[in-house]
Amino acid sequence: MKKKFELQFIETLVYSNYGIKVKATQVEGESDDNFKLNSKNKSYFFKIYPKKTDPKFVKFQTNLLTDLKDYKKAANNKLTLDKKPYATFFDKENEIRYFRMNDWIHGRLWSSVNPINKNLRHELGLESAKLILKLKKINSNYLREDFDWDLSNYLWIDKFYKKIDIGKKRQLIIENLLLNFKKKQSEYDGLRKNLIHNDLNDNNIIVSENLKTPNIVGFIDFGDCIKSQLINELAVTCTYGIIDSMNLLESACEIIKGFNSEIKISEIETEFLYELILLRISISILKSSLNEKYNPGNKYLQVSKDDMLLIFDKWADINQELATYFFRNACGFTPTPHEKNFKKLIGKKKSSINILFNKNETNKLENLDLSVSSKWLSSDLINDISSFEKKINQKPFSTFFGGYLETRAVYDSSDYEVLTERGFENRTTHLGIDFWVNEKTSINSIEDGIIKIITNDKTSKGYGGLIIIEHNLGSLKFYSLYGHLTDQKKSKLKVGDFVEKGEKIAEIGSVKENGGWSPHLHFQIMLTLLDYKNDFPGVCLESEKKVWSSICPNPNLILNFDVNINTKFDEDELKISRKKYLPRNLKLSYNSPIYIVRGFNQYLYSNKGKKYLDTVNNIAHVGHQNINVLKAAKDQIGVLNTNTRYLHDEIISLSKNLAAKFPKKLSKIYLVNSGSEANELAIRISNVNRNCENFIVMQGGYHGNTNKTIEVSNYKYNSKGGSGKASNVFEIPMPDEFRGKYRGKGAGKKYFIEFEKIISKAKKANKKISAMIVEPIISCGGQIELPEKFLKKCKKILNRENILLIVDEVQTGFGRVGEKFWGFQLHDVIPDIVTLGKPMGNGHPIGAVVCTAEISKKFDNGLEFFSSFGGNPVSCRIANEVIREIDSRNLQKNALKTGKFLVSELKKLAKKYSIIGNVRGRGLFIGLELVDQNLIPEMDKAIYLVNRMKELGVLMSNDGLDKNVIKIKPPIIFSIDDSKRLIMLLDKVMAEDYMQLN
Ligand code: PMP
Repeated sequence: MKKKFELQFIETLVYSNYGIKVKATQVEGESDDNFKLNSKNKSYFFKIYPKKTDPKFVKFQTNLLTDLKDYKKAANNKLTLDKKPYATFFDKENEIRYFRMNDWIHGRLWSSVNPINKNLRHELGLESAKLILKLKKINSNYLREDFDWDLSNYLWIDKFYKKIDIGKKRQLIIENLLLNFKKKQSEYDGLRKNLIHNDLNDNNIIVSENLKTPNIVGFIDFGDCIKSQLINELAVTCTYGIIDSMNLLESACEIIKGFNSEIKISEIETEFLYELILLRISISILKSSLNEKYNPGNKYLQVSKDDMLLIFDKWADINQELATYFFRNACGFTPTPHEKNFKKLIGKKKSSINILFNKNETNKLENLDLSVSSKWLSSDLINDISSFEKKINQKPFSTFFGGYLETRAVYDSSDYEVLTERGFENRTTHLGIDFWVNEKTSINSIEDGIIKIITNDKTSKGYGGLIIIEHNLGSLKFYSLYGHLTDQKKSKLKVGDFVEKGEKIAEIGSVKENGGWSPHLHFQIMLTLLDYKNDFPGVCLESEKKVWSSICPNPNLILNFDVNINTKFDEDELKISRKKYLPRNLKLSYNSPIYIVRGFNQYLYSNKGKKYLDTVNNIAHVGHQNINVLKAAKDQIGVLNTNTRYLHDEIISLSKNLAAKFPKKLSKIYLVNSGSEANELAIRISNVNRNCENFIVMQGGYHGNTNKTIEVSNYKYNSKGGSGKASNVFEIPMPDEFRGKYRGKGAGKKYFIEFEKIISKAKKANKKISAMIVEPIISCGGQIELPEKFLKKCKKILNRENILLIVDEVQTGFGRVGEKFWGFQLHDVIPDIVTLGKPMGNGHPIGAVVCTAEISKKFDNGLEFFSSFGGNPVSCRIANEVIREIDSRNLQKNALKTGKFLVSELKKLAKKYSIIGNVRGRGLFIGLELVDQNLIPEMDKAIYLVNRMKELGVLMSNDGLDKNVIKIKPPIIFSIDDSKRLIMLLDKVMAEDYMQLN
């Protein structure tokens, strides 16, 4: 910044004119000299206008600010000691200079806010409309001649845009823009006018310091204020309010909705918005380029050029017609203006399903639910075509149809994926009706029309053979779309051909030519082709359903058949019922809970079709709804499910399979239904063995929800509502080398000494100990790895003292830790008892206790062991399949490889973001600890992170004694690509304002 005025000079100027003692610092400005002034208890903004400023302008501006004094969101202009809104002085060149001073609006610039959320954009629109209403009351008609920034004065760019170096493509876009805009000039001239701010750019909007739920606190710089078309204000506000957005249209609509809630925008005004935004972007680029040429020293003049070039390209890529429909929707109009008329006229056209298929359809029409929660579609979704067809063919006298506006999980290829403000999202909402008819079924045009598109869509899960026909409907045109046809290269029809109603146009294609689907017709109608030349979307983002369903009305308006579709639960109903029937301490995850209706591999799907990458659910060990596990379960449940009092092969093969994974010594297996039941039993087995009930437990340990397991779970008995440590429990500190009682090098030894002390304490108190229970990596306690050799050394002492060691592998077992199959193997010990749960049934309730023959023998004191469900053939069959999946797919190795990659990437993030104090874990059992510089736990930030990641489509959880540890324990099929996506989104959220707060 060039220093033209001494700060002391400014301070004296302020004192002599306003009577206030201040300290001045210079701040940036386009051509003015701006200063921030700090007095004892207030801050001010001070502006010296450039040489030769028109005094009329200064007067206008300062009067304006003075008139706005009741408006809370503009800075109050200070009057001078002699009550003037501005004053003057003569500079070194003896030229007159005008200056003014106003209150400083405290906050941060919009341009520095990260992330800009939906609410803030809505509020920006709302507040800018409120400002317009204030300006309306001001009795001024400030017309500035030839003002470059006035959109209604856009014609000046005509002379310049070809001379600046922005590339041919951009020049052509501007050329077209000007050409089209000029055609609508008289309409534009007739739009309502108002005094407008005209420069609500991202450096003129002040946002509150609240980093989680920011608000608009003010607008500054009224220097471009002008009387012009009111809609120009909204266009300018949108231009800057959508910078950095992943979905410009959606973000612009948020601003528009806010604006429209205060000032109703007319239909005709919506028609100018797209172009006005492009015009403002173009003017901004042109001004920066011209300044670069003529005023190269002033970098401020070019601040937004790169942003603007980027946004120019992105905005120009959006179809203008489509954008206008979005704007209309945001303003409460039907998205397509002719939708109502179409609905009226189409009723008179009598087409039918029989015309479409050219036969008297005698089959019963039956709705096929392919929505995300469809029970009809199994975990193989629609990919297993032969089983899909088998099901369809079970009812040969039914024709299955359905899908209009149905949200489906089946569009999972990358062609359907879009990066939005909510992370990666798939286009999931179906815009046509599918008819599941046989390959080679003849398809006929539903109306007279002209072929507009005839092609083969080659994308994976695309249309395959595709025909689109244009029809006339009174003064309207509409289009019918026929997808998944035979190879259209072989068709005799071509673009421009006339076809009659009922004329055969094609046949249903086979899997090979129809995009890879089970044969069916995708039939859709559209009121416009937008700009599509060779394609048209058949599915849209769920969030854009309202607009797309207006462009693509229900095809049944023309086919006229009876449909009976069941409605489903909605989230609000579920929330109410949950409150009514379920206990309050049964908690939901996330600030706003999600309605999950489907799982597949490492993903969970909401009822809205949002696909979440799951980094939390270690129970779905080999993937949610793993196809083989599912098949095994189905096979067995259809044959037998009973208790263990009969001979059965599944329990034997499971026991053999499990035993093979353990050291020889651990050979006896008790099958139960959960981790809690396993630990409960392990405690009982120990107590019977050692004839006492005292236990050594670890701080942070969690072992289940039954009475006995809670008694040994410090994580529970020591937390809110817990009943504290029982007298038979001896606690050793959690050996956390990062933030525990002892830290860093040598800490492990100290924790071991603590363990020894406990042993002596119990001895002194004459309390015989039955067992010590530990997790090989403490999970709920915060993914804490035990110090090296700690457990091995403990085991030696335990052996000496005749105390059993129970290792709880409920979280860590079955290959998760990568290097070994069991967590205890990382410590080179053989426990006396091992407990299993969670991953063992991949979601099906099954657990186990594994112990030595000797311990088992002692437990057999005459009392029968029996668990009604434990060891039933279905559970055993499932667990067998889980083990088979781990082995046959080398998933333990995957956990090792992916885990190593993930940890190394997380460590890179930790270098970038100091809040990540520690990254730890083994295989796919990882912890990310969030702390400040003084190692104070950052629980609130962990909660923020988890909730933001959820919004972005990644499920994570926070835990640990201080709830500041992000636990990462996904299904062990989690891939390197999944890890990359996780890291990319973590990087994004870590950079957000709230996470950066010191
Ligand atoms: N042990 C550990 C280490 C656990 O994490 C859990 C569950 N979180 C249990 C035991 C209890 O298992 P369940 O909830 O299946 O009874």
